[in-house]
Amino acid sequence: MKSKIAMIFTGGTIAMKVDPDLHAAIPALNADEILSMIKNIEELTDLEIINFSNLPSPHITPDVMMDLCQLTKEKLADDTITGVIITHGTDTLEETAYLLDLMLDTNKPVVVVGAMRNFSELGYDGSSNLSAAICTVLSDKSLGKGVLVVMNNEVHAASQVTKTNTLSLDTFKSPEFGPLGIVDNDEVIYYRNIPSRQIIPSDSIENRVALIKCVPGMDSEIIDFYLSSNYKGIIIEALGRGNVPPSIVAGIKKSIDNNIPVVMVSRCNTGRVLYTYGYEGGGKHLRDIGVIFGGNLPGQKARIKLMVILGHTNKMDEIKELFESNI
Ligand code: ASP
Repeated sequence: MKSKIAMIFTGGTIAMKVDPDLHAAIPALNADEILSMIKNIEELTDLEIINFSNLPSPHITPDVMMDLCQLTKEKLADDTITGVIITHGTDTLEETAYLLDLMLDTNKPVVVVGAMRNFSELGYDGSSNLSAAICTVLSDKSLGKGVLVVMNNEVHAASQVTKTNTLSLDTFKSPEFGPLGIVDNDEVIYYRNIPSRQIIPSDSIENRVALIKCVPGMDSEIIDFYLSSNYKGIIIEALGRGNVPPSIVAGIKKSIDNNIPVVMVSRCNTGRVLYTYGYEGGGKHLRDIGVIFGGNLPGQKARIKLMVILGHTNKMDEIKELFESNI
């Protein structure tokens, strides 16, 4: 039987052109126009095209991500669908892909793809990225790998990938581990597997999760603000191995005492946080007062994970267990 891919178009540079009046890129292309540049797709697979939105990805909210997740679930439940491709702006692509990865309990391939150059630019990469995404979904080797991000002929795990460069076509990297594989001449070649995949049994998310970046000399004022604004979780991008200025410790403690989880990751690009240092505000001190450790996740992805977990439970020990397993 011929395969069938559900292709959900959400917007992003892959669907943009330069507006002659603004001299800047804006949403402009629909699904048919994007696909018209890829030859002979119909010989490979049937397509179900869904024009979900035409949003730049800074306009994508967690609620939009959840609508997309629901739609993807529905498509995956359809026996005639082999897998799902989602086109997305690259700015928040890693967040949408990670949310889907944590929430979609499926073995079928789900690929998120975008472009760095818009249709008016020389070297538009939308068609080649989309065609690599199609090859990835159609490969049996992509089964059970969780949500994948395909860009610049590389295949990355949504749980590991991040956008690293504002301009380069080679912007999506898995800095700790490298890509899972490549797409070479329409063939998907995997070099490694994902060790294990975490699916959080959650049907909703908590939107009020803040992300705070640590800087020298900061105090607890920002945490006090989030607590008084009824936020339900806080991510701290801490310094180095996972340490904070002592002047913010009171706010962290107050948050945990109020049953608002605080998850710590590092503002360094790579490496895990750990309880190496015992001084005030050091990782060991933070561990002892109940801070949850977020491994090597970047802050923006730790935020998504806490949002998903808080949609499932608000019990501190369960949150800690779910957050710290599999990182
Ligand atoms: N600003 C664009 C967006 O995220 C960038 C892109 O798609 O590459 O929608």
